Amino acid sequence: MNAMKPPKIVPFKSNECMSKELVEKLLEQGKNYGINAVYPFSVEKIILAEWVHLKCRYGCSKYNTSWCCPPATPRPEKVRKIIDEYTTALLLVGSKHCPDFYRDNQRKRSLQVRCWRGTVGMERLLFLEGYYKAFSLVGECCALCKECAYPEDCRFPQEKRPSVESFSIDVIGTLRNLGRSANVASDTNATYNYYGLILVE
Ligand code: SF4
Repeated sequence: MNAMKPPKIVPFKSNECMSKELVEKLLEQGKNYGINAVYPFSVEKIILAEWVHLKCRYGCSKYNTSWCCPPATPRPEKVRKIIDEYTTALLLVGSKHCPDFYRDNQRKRSLQVRCWRGTVGMERLLFLEGYYKAFSLVGECCALCKECAYPEDCRFPQEKRPSVESFSIDVIGTLRNLGRSANVASDTNATYNYYGLILVE
């Protein structure tokens, strides 16, 4: 007769450094979704700026069309308070080759959804490891539906997360603060990076 395996019980974490093993486990999972690097860092390095919100309001076609973009997402002053409740975050980096970047087609959506699911999956893994505050901010706008249901009810509320930019985070400034360079892909044939964040604890 097989002895029943005891269930794995993980204590909730509080201000503990993330182990190298866990970072590797996250990366292993992320690779299935096009995320090639995971960097833990202090939230003090995150740069928030009002001008990011301005760029969402003026010049972005997604403004007022998605649950994951302004004005549905928190305003900069609220974001500051949220980030103050954390000490550690993870930067997720992936690379994409997408000649359809400026198009709104299925091929582009599939790539977006892949990274999106990978990011939310890593948040779930962190929760199961005891990081109960983990919360993802995903790169680009939500593409889970061909057309967002906003302002009607979201069709996938469990997977809905704000985009990094909607949180007024200066992504380029934050990358520089972390000693990482970021380039503009000026050619649609170039490979460009995906950046997601997870607020951890
Ligand atoms: S899951 Fe669908 S309805 Fe919900 S925010 Fe994303 S695109 Fe909009």
